[in-house]
Amino acid sequence: MEKRRIGIMGGTFDPIHIGHLVIAEAVYETYRLDKVLFIPASSPPHKPGVKVAPALHRYVMTVLATVGHPAFSVSDIEMRRPGPSYSYDTVRALRQEMGDGCEFFFILGTDAAKELGTWNNVDELLDLCHFVAATRPGTQRAVDDVIKQFGEKGQAKIHPLSTPELAISATDIRKRIQTGRSVRFILPEQVEAYIKKEGLYR
Ligand code: ATP
Repeated sequence: MEKRRIGIMGGTFDPIHIGHLVIAEAVYETYRLDKVLFIPASSPPHKPGVKVAPALHRYVMTVLATVGHPAFSVSDIEMRRPGPSYSYDTVRALRQEMGDGCEFFFILGTDAAKELGTWNNVDELLDLCHFVAATRPGTQRAVDDVIKQFGEKGQAKIHPLSTPELAISATDIRKRIQTGRSVRFILPEQVEAYIKKEGLYR
C-alpha cells in the first residue's frame, strides 16, 4: 500500500502570513501530499530571549489561516510539550502517533534551510523525514550548499523546490502593525481581524 504523504510546516507563526501559506501549497501540490500539518512552536529554540505572542494566540491565528483548505490542519503537539520545540522530538512523536504507514515532508523556507546544520539531531532527523526547501531564483545556490554539506544523505533527503517565495516576514508584519501601517493582503483577512480584536503587536 502506498504510504500517506504528510507535510510538516513548523514555525513560530507570530503571525502566520501568506508567505507560509504559499510555500505550503506549493509543496502540497508538487509532492502530492495527502495532508499538511501546521505546527506552531511553543518556544522556538532558534529565537532565545525573543518575545513571542502567547502560543494560544498563534495557534488560533494558524487555525483561522488554514481552515478553508481541505488538506491543511493545525497540530498542538509542540504547544503541549514544555521547553524548546525541537523538530526532532516532534517528528519522532508524529512517527509514533501515526505509524510507519506515513512518509514525512518537512517544509522549509530558504532562511530555515540555511540553518539546518545547527538543528538538534539533524542527522537522525534526516533519517525520519524528507526536507523540501523553498527557493527562488536568487537563493537556489544557498540551498544547494546545504545539500552538499550533508553529503549523500543530503542528496537523498533534501529537495529544493522553486516556489513563489515572497519577501514577507512576520517581523515586518509586527513592525507594520506597531506603526499603524497596512497589512492588508499579506495576511489572511481573518488573521488580520483577530490581531485587531485581540490588540496584538501594538
Ligand atoms: P520572523 O520574521 O518572526 O522570524 P517568519 O516570517 O520568518 O518569522 P517563521 O514562523 O519563523 O516565520 O517561519 C516558519 C517557516 O516559514 C520557516 O521555514 C521560514 O523559513 C518559512 N518562511 C517564513 N517566511 C517566508 C516567506 N516569505 N516565504 C517562504 N517561506 C517563509
